[in-house]
Amino acid sequence: MYYTTEEYMRLRFERFARQYAYSAKTVEEHEEWYARTSSRLSEIIGLTRALPTEPHPTLTERRRYDGFVRERWLIETEPTVIMPFYLLVPDKPNGSAIINPHGHGGAKDENLGFRPAGIPGGTSDGTLVERDGSCSFGVMMARRGCYIAAPDARGAGERREGSHQGDGRERENSHREMLGAGICLGLSPIGGMVWDLCRLLDFLLTIPEIDPGRIGCAGMSGGGEQTIYFAALDRRVSLAITSGYFYGFRDALMLQPGNCGCNYAPYLYETVDMGDIGAMIAPRPLFIESGVNDKLNGASGIENVYSQVKIAKSAYSLFDADDRLVHSVHGGGHVWVGDGMAEFIEKYL
Ligand SMILES: [Zn+2]
Repeated sequence: MYYTTEEYMRLRFERFARQYAYSAKTVEEHEEWYARTSSRLSEIIGLTRALPTEPHPTLTERRRYDGFVRERWLIETEPTVIMPFYLLVPDKPNGSAIINPHGHGGAKDENLGFRPAGIPGGTSDGTLVERDGSCSFGVMMARRGCYIAAPDARGAGERREGSHQGDGRERENSHREMLGAGICLGLSPIGGMVWDLCRLLDFLLTIPEIDPGRIGCAGMSGGGEQTIYFAALDRRVSLAITSGYFYGFRDALMLQPGNCGCNYAPYLYETVDMGDIGAMIAPRPLFIESGVNDKLNGASGIENVYSQVKIAKSAYSLFDADDRLVHSVHGGGHVWVGDGMAEFIEKYL
């Protein structure tokens, strides 16, 4: 016999969850709700505590590939916080750009298909791995004329904290340690990651070939998480794509508390659920991809995704923009399939 707290957590969730639940019936109510909710969400994830600084962008490397040039940049996002990222500069720019954050067990190199070489710091030897003519989403979009900006998230890739550094550990991250270190300072990993993506967007706005109204964000898993928080809180993001990350908090996060540490922030469940964050993106185009057999959907499976999409949908309907919210469901697990995404981007970005 064990006397656990799980039932108590469920009880608290039933009683206190979603105090900022989406319920707008007019555009005016939506805007009022957005202002209150974005303010509270920014506060609880620690976004409002970020310390602005001069970015000092530094170009460290340029390398040519078929259809694009890969640049490696460093920018300072907060005092002493350095973010390395790749910028894929297309040979034939079409005016659009996509920020492409990676997942929990990854980094910018594998996200784009560059083979990590075990070099200290986890940087790539630059080899682009393309199997059977298929390439990563980022490389595909760069070849279609889109600028791609792919950073290492805090605690991942070249930004791993001490206990996760070293060759052969490129798929580890320090998000749980960062949660532990930051929570008593009012910080959370996702708050820091959103801040970094905002600064990356600032950087993209300095590139004359990029149209400020045509900057999107797309990511898988932890990259999908970063995408929806970022798009929800920074309305300069014109289009969002999340794959493998759009499920109800109770089943997918509270009852699976061993997930990556960047999923959690104080007061999160009391504030919103995933669908409310989706509603914050409305009426900007939002593409959600889910796998029926994705274990991260939680015990109730794909139903735990449908219920959240329904919340987001109500916001798109309010704006008469139902076609701008696409939910694409595949039969697989926690994987990026990508069907329909390029067409969605072509149509809306
Ligand atoms: Zn994470």
